[in-house]
Amino acid sequence: MTKVVCVGAHPDDVEIGMGGTVASLVRQGVDVVIVDLTDGEPTPHGTRETRLAEAAEAARMLGCRRVTLDLPNRYLLDSVDARTALAEILRAERPEVLFAPYPEDAHPDHSAAASIAEAARFYAKLTKTKMSGEPHYPARLYRYMAVHLRLVREPSFIVDIAQGLQTKLTALRAYASQFGDNPANEGVIAHVERAARFWGDVGRFEAGEPFFCLEPPSVSSVLDLR
Ligand SMILES: [Zn+2]
Repeated sequence: MTKVVCVGAHPDDVEIGMGGTVASLVRQGVDVVIVDLTDGEPTPHGTRETRLAEAAEAARMLGCRRVTLDLPNRYLLDSVDARTALAEILRAERPEVLFAPYPEDAHPDHSAAASIAEAARFYAKLTKTKMSGEPHYPARLYRYMAVHLRLVREPSFIVDIAQGLQTKLTALRAYASQFGDNPANEGVIAHVERAARFWGDVGRFEAGEPFFCLEPPSVSSVLDLR
């Protein structure tokens, strides 16, 4: 079975950036694991307990598994410890595909998470190390977009999430402490839906999510491109 790991700094990052793609991969029989590097706390209306419960509920709706590491929210840094913690997950889960955040971001945790994920991909294949597990290198790495900047970047490809959009939005609503109880984030879910409609329009789908490659994507047949 194909396995995919999606790394986020905080619970809800993966849902915002690629929740529809997660839902559609799960529907295709792919084993998807979301790895949150932090529990996302403190926030104005959250607690660790509510946040973990919301994240678990969102994963249940998407049909994926979830691991939450205890690296420090707000002060997440690309360190050897952080890389090693994630690399050990990659060695245990052994995904073929790794998704990481887009690195250019106003939120320093997101930029750090992008660096940590890329470094952990490399660390995971190391031999002669004290890390648990056996060496493993996720063959492909893609970046999803869930940023706190008004960025417009041209994606490498767009995934059709027409079938997964409502699941994505429902999963986001599970984060009541972030999007329901916090007036500052009142418009976030509506914005996420508009962005999905925009990328869908670009890809000629009902809804889409953009992704960014570090390495050129390759296909067996040109007909696989739409
Ligand atoms: Zn975040």
